[in-house]
Amino acid sequence: MSRKLIDCSQLPSEKQCTLTISGSEEEVLDLAVIHAILTHGQEDPHELRKQLRLLLQDAPEVKSATA
Ligand SMILES: [Zn+2]
Repeated sequence: MSRKLIDCSQLPSEKQCTLTISGSEEEVLDLAVIHAILTHGQEDPHELRKQLRLLLQDAPEVKSATA
């Protein structure tokens, strides 16, 4: 499964937030919604999920770093 990424610094917010979340699409959305509510005082999980889904990016492939 391809990994997705959300960069919270791209979200409209009064706080300077540098958090990035990566994982499967559902994992990222779940955590991002919780984060937005707890940290940014958002209140509408359904609306948040819609907005956050638009901001999902493909996460870069993680290369195994066996030297
Ligand atoms: Zn944030």
